[in-house]
Amino acid sequence: MRILITGGAGFLGSHLCERLLREGNEIICLDNFFTGRKRNILHLLDDPHFELVRHDVTEPFRFEIDQIYNLACPASPPHYQHNPIKTTKTSVMGAIHTLGLAKRVGARAFQASTSEVYGDPEVHPQPESYKGSVNPIGIRACYDEGKRCAETLFFDYHRQNGVEIRVVRIFNTYGPRMLPDDGRVVSNFIVQALTGKDITIYGDGTQTRSFCYVDDLIEGFIRLMNHPTQSGPVNIGNPGEFTMLQLAELVLKKVGGKSKITYLPLPGDDPKQRRPDITLAQQDLGWQPTVSLEDGLDPTIDYFRKLLKEA
Ligand code: NAD
Ligand code: UDP
Repeated sequence: MRILITGGAGFLGSHLCERLLREGNEIICLDNFFTGRKRNILHLLDDPHFELVRHDVTEPFRFEIDQIYNLACPASPPHYQHNPIKTTKTSVMGAIHTLGLAKRVGARAFQASTSEVYGDPEVHPQPESYKGSVNPIGIRACYDEGKRCAETLFFDYHRQNGVEIRVVRIFNTYGPRMLPDDGRVVSNFIVQALTGKDITIYGDGTQTRSFCYVDDLIEGFIRLMNHPTQSGPVNIGNPGEFTMLQLAELVLKKVGGKSKITYLPLPGDDPKQRRPDITLAQQDLGWQPTVSLEDGLDPTIDYFRKLLKEA
């Protein structure tokens, strides 16, 4: 198949490009390099089945393709809050342009949505039926509401125009190729531990997240995209739930060194707990995570160790 991946030079996008190329597909990787890096896809550039296009999804795009994975959007809070208006535009206009193209060429469209659509959840763990608790005017809203509106557009293009859609709600995912200065918790803690800096816990460290290793997530993407009928939304994430203090201690144990833990103020609207209910993914996609946090941290730490040595 010929497959378009928007945001293909980013953390998740580059792993998806690799996996789909390996399976014999032709890949068009579209990215504006806001948080994506050429380094992530350098090893794919010589592949005759791989094409790189520098483009911004807020502008229309046209290709002859069979499937589109729409991943373009900064994912870490510091990056999406850097230019919040642009973040909303990227989610909303990126979805419109993705769906317009899918409608025109009859392609199946896949949306990388997020657990952030649940906001600071009052239901725990979060099933897909939970409608969420998002503050529409807070500092996370540019991302959360942008992603919620993108989901709306996907389902309306499906109902109104018969576009085939797949919507995944991704829970915190980590692994090699996250940016070292990304600001997300796993990369922050690992880089801090490797460079002997203090580990920065925001708030008291009792807030929880569930961390999925990137290879598990990509497997879930492929299963959902190629499922004959399930449009989603489907939660994909690892139900193992950890406090940020537990994560800091685990990273410190694995990296060693002399970093200490320091406590900084909690950012606004930071969700207190998050864990996916993955019953639907298990039942319909036969999917469940296979890599524990303990095991997934090792290749991630190795990646950052090498990256910091090269710098
Ligand atoms: P990332 O920041 O590494 O990747 C995003 C990519 O999109 C980057 O390559 C960036 O340059 C590109 N991009 C941003 N704005 C663009 C625009 N206007 N036009 C074209 N390209 C643009 O983040 P990621 O972790 O790889 O996330 C990929 C997708 O998955 C995002 O849509 C994100 O919201 C979603 N997601 C990720 C996670 C996670 O834990 N990693 C969780 C929930 C949802
Ligand atoms: N966090 C932290 N220290 C950091 C970065 C993040 O304690 O250096 C916390 C953050 O406040 C949040 C959790 O870790 O409670 C996950 O943050 P991340 O930005 O990775 O993802 P999200 O909040 O979007 O789930």
